[in-house]
Amino acid sequence: MILDDILKVLKTSKERAYTIDNNNYTYSELYKFVCNIYHFLLNENKENKPVIVYGHKEIYMKATFLACSFAGITYVPIDESMPKERIEQIVGQINPHLIIGGNISKEKIYEVMYADEFREIDKIYLEPNDIYYIIFTSGSTGIPKGVKVTYNNLNSCIYWLKEKINIKKGVILNQANFSFDLSVADLYLSAVSESEHFVINNLNLDFNKTFEQLKSSKANMLVATPSFVDLLLLDKSFGKELMPNLQIILFCGEKLLKSTIKKIYSRFDNIKIVNSYGPTECTFAVASIEVDNNILNNDEIPVGIPKEDVQIFIVDENLNQLQEKQIGEILITGESVADGYLGNVNNNSFIQYNGKKAYLTGDLGFIRNGMLYYKARKDKQIKYKGYRIELSDIEQNLQQLNYIDKAVVIAKKGKEDKVLNIIAFLILKEKIIKTEKEISEDLKTKMPEYMCPRIKIVKEFPINNNGKCDEKKLLEEY
Ligand code: AMP
Repeated sequence: MILDDILKVLKTSKERAYTIDNNNYTYSELYKFVCNIYHFLLNENKENKPVIVYGHKEIYMKATFLACSFAGITYVPIDESMPKERIEQIVGQINPHLIIGGNISKEKIYEVMYADEFREIDKIYLEPNDIYYIIFTSGSTGIPKGVKVTYNNLNSCIYWLKEKINIKKGVILNQANFSFDLSVADLYLSAVSESEHFVINNLNLDFNKTFEQLKSSKANMLVATPSFVDLLLLDKSFGKELMPNLQIILFCGEKLLKSTIKKIYSRFDNIKIVNSYGPTECTFAVASIEVDNNILNNDEIPVGIPKEDVQIFIVDENLNQLQEKQIGEILITGESVADGYLGNVNNNSFIQYNGKKAYLTGDLGFIRNGMLYYKARKDKQIKYKGYRIELSDIEQNLQQLNYIDKAVVIAKKGKEDKVLNIIAFLILKEKIIKTEKEISEDLKTKMPEYMCPRIKIVKEFPINNNGKCDEKKLLEEY
């Protein structure tokens, strides 16, 4: 299993393992860090509670993820960009004994990592059905929900990607924060392939710095969302000269547009573009496809061929299977389906189907010639700048501001349904005087910045024939 392979790499490799901000660490250094944290955790986390790992891509984060895994402890990554209130909601659900980067300060964990005393990892404690990590994602109730991913889930995903994309030793570039499941691919593909994991430190969203990092990375592979690459493509210098070694871009997380693919092909020759599809609840991805010229000439870009150990069905509202080419909800069964949500999240998504654990995605799509196509969402979940957001999560957070009477949050969409921005239309309680800017500031204390909508205060909502708020009209008036 992957942890056996990773342990072998850690013990034997002389290569570079991790780079952030011009600091790099070899596999033997990483191994020492992992060993020291592993023994620390086995001592300090006797009740075997999940451990929260808080920070922004520092080396201790990756070292702690690995140490937890070897020690049989579930970890929960939280990025520093998350606001305090949201972090508290996660901490409240996990109730951890240890927060690395929190009650175990960064200084303390570095002290542990660099301690002179060094004992090897003598046993891998994690069992195949144990929870490997819990990643929190936007929840429609206004509180993030934790997805429990098992060792089996992750193992199956990483070996599938490694083989499918034919990953060789090289440099794998990371875009996403470790609290998003997109990062799982680069975190573990790098480790199993003895590659250098080069992370982009983009906490301050400094574009010039991002480009410097792209150049110095000498990366062979990039794991990214289409939104991120679209942003890079806005700059003419994003191309072969900047990244001469780039051979593979692995996309996941949102619709990959033809325009993005064509631009990439025009800037890089001999590049392999892989589209992959899947929700966090099914461990990074469950289908993938290399987008070559043949695929590009299709009327639509598919999201891929399902991996061998999952089965994907297109179903109607009563869960009856639909025919080829018919559009319905995408239902996933098999090895990738996670263990469910943490706690008592009220959900109808993790279900039993034909006697097997299944996940009902909320995505609409169809299958043609064994290939899966994504069409749209059934509900109010969106992808904005690559981030997964439940619009009702934003509404719930707005409703918690005691001066707001009513809130409606709408995603304004452009070509190919791409979300251009999110707008919150608000009616304030009587006699309240607040500016849109002040409301934005209040909201930023509750939700990550990428979730914060534009604010528009209105006197009333237009009503449609059903007596509901007429969202179309609201947008038009806006
Ligand atoms: P996340 O849990 O953040 O990975 O988001 C999962 C959701 O992103 C899926 O349910 C889809 O709605 C969307 N998604 C993921 N991959 C793709 C893709 N390749 N094309 C279109 N939508 C995608």
